Amino acid sequence: MATRYDAVVIGAGPAGEGAAMKLVKEGRRVAVIDQLGEVGGNCAHVGTIPSKALRQTVYNLMRFRRDPLLSRMADIRSVPLSQVLARAHKVIETQVSTHHRFFERNDVDLYFGQARFEEPNLISVLTPEGITERIGFEHAVIATGSRPYQPADIDFNHPRVFDSDKILKLDYPVSKLIIYGAGVIGCEYASIFVGLGYKVDLVNTQPQLLSYLDDEIADALSHYLRDLGVLIRNQEEYERVETTADSVVLHLKSGKKIKADAILWCNGRAGNTETLALEAVGLQANSRGQIAVDDQYRTANPNVFAVGDVIGPPALASAAYDQGRCAAAHITGSQDVPHVDDVPTGIYTIPEISCLGKTEKQLTDAKVPYEVGQSFFRHLARAQISGDVVGMLKILFHRDTREILGIHCFGNNAAEIVHIGQAVMNQPGNSIDYFANTTFNYPTMAEAYRVAALNGMNRLF
Ligand SMILES: Cc1cc2nc3c(=O)[nH]c(=O)nc-3n(C[C@H](O)[C@H](O)[C@H](O)COP(=O)(O)OP(=O)(O)OC[C@H]3O[C@@H](n4cnc5c(N)ncnc54)[C@H](O)[C@@H]3O)c2cc1C
Repeated sequence: MATRYDAVVIGAGPAGEGAAMKLVKEGRRVAVIDQLGEVGGNCAHVGTIPSKALRQTVYNLMRFRRDPLLSRMADIRSVPLSQVLARAHKVIETQVSTHHRFFERNDVDLYFGQARFEEPNLISVLTPEGITERIGFEHAVIATGSRPYQPADIDFNHPRVFDSDKILKLDYPVSKLIIYGAGVIGCEYASIFVGLGYKVDLVNTQPQLLSYLDDEIADALSHYLRDLGVLIRNQEEYERVETTADSVVLHLKSGKKIKADAILWCNGRAGNTETLALEAVGLQANSRGQIAVDDQYRTANPNVFAVGDVIGPPALASAAYDQGRCAAAHITGSQDVPHVDDVPTGIYTIPEISCLGKTEKQLTDAKVPYEVGQSFFRHLARAQISGDVVGMLKILFHRDTREILGIHCFGNNAAEIVHIGQAVMNQPGNSIDYFANTTFNYPTMAEAYRVAALNGMNRLF
């Protein structure tokens, strides 16, 4: 006999949580299923949260080393990864228990086990104890996320071969690491490991790092990663990975060979759909395991929605939560959550990067008459005080209407700083004048907006 729910959500990551919370707020009876045995999803357990906690520790270490007063007090050059990770584990624990309380307080029924569609309105959950529970539903939301893509010719069981999930279990000393794949995750881990004192070779399959960024920001990232000691190898492709008991050799199609203590594979992700038996609800995933949806996050089956990483880009926790809420709003008919567009880019490299809107290249290609306003962190009192002088804010605005068209920032706290500009961009009276005519606290990093606005307006004639 199946327990019946108005809606069942598969996956308790940000996408599943966003959907579940909105569904219960609209009065629906909701079950959430997750195979991890806890809530939080890959986001809290192996993705966003551990990598950001790890980054913060490394960033603190780097600042400590930079400060002549503090660096004399201790030799912190070689901090074991296990110690650095201890802090990340604490953050994961706190995050998971916080989110667990959200589900409990909102009367969402949690099922821990692997979900699988059985019939158009029936799902089964196989628990770790081997018990199968059956759940009937009117609507289902697939929020099963993604995992690192693992090419078949690479042995990920080898102790020196890692992906971004497994790297959190690295438990032996490493002095040189190869990172294959220079997308956001590869670049973030390159700054983390070089900050810990490892030698890092970052192998990029593309001609430049993160080519979708504004050119000036992408160039700055390459410059500062190199400055930290990362060796970037652009436009290379692997031929094979050779492993021995104490090393790996990456053979590249260009004929080069790179030897290191370990390799971290960061080249692509695949949607988690292979165990869902999608055919039972008339669905099929693409070759990357991703599910196609319309602008309401509805799949080809009108009762089944899909949100988060499992539908592909932008594959961000930030977007996943709002996609979940939007899908739930369409299930319940409240329709009061917009489709998720204009997601800011937040890249937690060292230095951090965040962008929103158009790049200079996009505006030039579209023949939009724009102007640029710049502010360099090294000129700001707050940055000089904190010592975070690497970075800049760039505002792109229409030279006739003065509408802000793009915001590009790199440097400490860029991911926070960009939201000031986002708030203004999203107002009906969006104009660069706001930053010239509004008094901000002083000294702050927000002052960068005033400096950039005045700099840009001075170019107008
Ligand atoms: C190293 C790394 C760093 C990242 N950094 C950032 C960042 O800084 N900012 C950002 O916005 N995003 C970041 N991301 C991306 C972010 O983690 C994902 O976009 C986000 O986790 C997607 O949320 P989701 O809910 O779709 O899926 P997930 O968080 O992947 O959760 C899906 C859940 O579904 C469960 N599941 C899967 N299949 C089944 C099944 N058959 N039955 C039951 N349960 C199932 C899984 O166990 C999992 O718990 C990062 C990712 C990685 C890997």
